[in-house]
Amino acid sequence: MTVAEATRPVPAEAATPVDGAPDYVRNLPPYVTAKPASQVQMAPGVTRLRKMASNENPNGASPKALAAAAAVLTGAATYPDPFGSELKAALHARFGVPPESLVIGNGSSELLELAARCFMRAGDEAVYSQYSFIGYPHAVKSMGGKGVVVPAVDFGHDLPAMLRAITPRTRLIFVANPNNPTGTLLAPEAITSFLEQVPPHVLVVLDEAYTEYLEPAQRMDSFGLIKRFANLVVMRTFSKAYGLAGLRVGFAAAQPQVAELINRTRLVFNVNAPAQAAALAALADEEFLALSARGNREGMKLLQDAFQKLGLPYIPSWGNFIAVDLSSAPGGLQGVNAQLLAAGFLLRPLGAYGLPNHLRITVGLPEDNAALVAALTACVKP
Ligand SMILES: *Cc1c(COP(=O)(O)O)cnc(C)c1O
Repeated sequence: MTVAEATRPVPAEAATPVDGAPDYVRNLPPYVTAKPASQVQMAPGVTRLRKMASNENPNGASPKALAAAAAVLTGAATYPDPFGSELKAALHARFGVPPESLVIGNGSSELLELAARCFMRAGDEAVYSQYSFIGYPHAVKSMGGKGVVVPAVDFGHDLPAMLRAITPRTRLIFVANPNNPTGTLLAPEAITSFLEQVPPHVLVVLDEAYTEYLEPAQRMDSFGLIKRFANLVVMRTFSKAYGLAGLRVGFAAAQPQVAELINRTRLVFNVNAPAQAAALAALADEEFLALSARGNREGMKLLQDAFQKLGLPYIPSWGNFIAVDLSSAPGGLQGVNAQLLAAGFLLRPLGAYGLPNHLRITVGLPEDNAALVAALTACVKP
């Protein structure tokens, strides 16, 4: 019997399968994504839509990764390696995490879902921060879990308050560092001290989807910490700085007993062969990674300088995106977003995250960033 079967009252007279589905499944909100490009109405003369909404890498992917994926397509008739052995060996060589401590996922979103599936029963609690990644409530609620949202401080995680929110029913805590959609960063010492205080029955998911964008001095030895903390799982993705969002690869690192449990619940062939091959090649292409981080740093500076000049408050960000507050701009967020959309910029309004005045902009190529600043200036100072 599954957890869902064990805990929900059996609906005696469900007329349809949908009636009989658990309430916590039927109540899941649909995913709100950026407007599909095909639905965007651009102003006359605007010929190109610039998608700066989903934190994708504006440089595309490493050419080596693309070549590696293409090379295995001829083998499409055969199943992929169910263990991701080559990729795990490469991750071991690169990060020092042994294969038995690794789980390869269909993006790190799958790993978030699997963590909830492995460690939560319906009615259990998971703690996460206000203004944090939308994947956390989804993972928790689709298991019938209860999300405990801890108010943010300066748009980021309040770790002491998150500790105080732990109860005997808490199974998971999600910490995004840097956070999406706000871009805030926690200091390594704050995270270590937090881990020292989390009780052993609670698994901490440290989600480092944007860590490759940090300056080396800002990074923490999160893989080193998994040796010390049996209740820590670190998650990384190939979707952002590695530029492989469309292929869906991420990985989790934890002590072997935790990794093994997650591995047992995933689909055997959860990551396809081109994705595994591309991730392997992307990992080796440090030049592409450095280029992505450098371009991001320059673009971020350009955008922040422009917001400052325009008098628009923004949340200082350590990711590849930045949230700007448009409450003081003519027409507010709605007006400015509509104008920018007409000018060919697809961006992410953060209403669904509880930030109704903030617009999240993914850092683009230099030319995209400059064009965006010009269009935004025209909105703010018409
Ligand atoms: C993008 C993102 C992920 C994972 O994305 P995948 O494409 O599923 O790997 C995870 N966490 C955060 C905070 C993100 O922004």
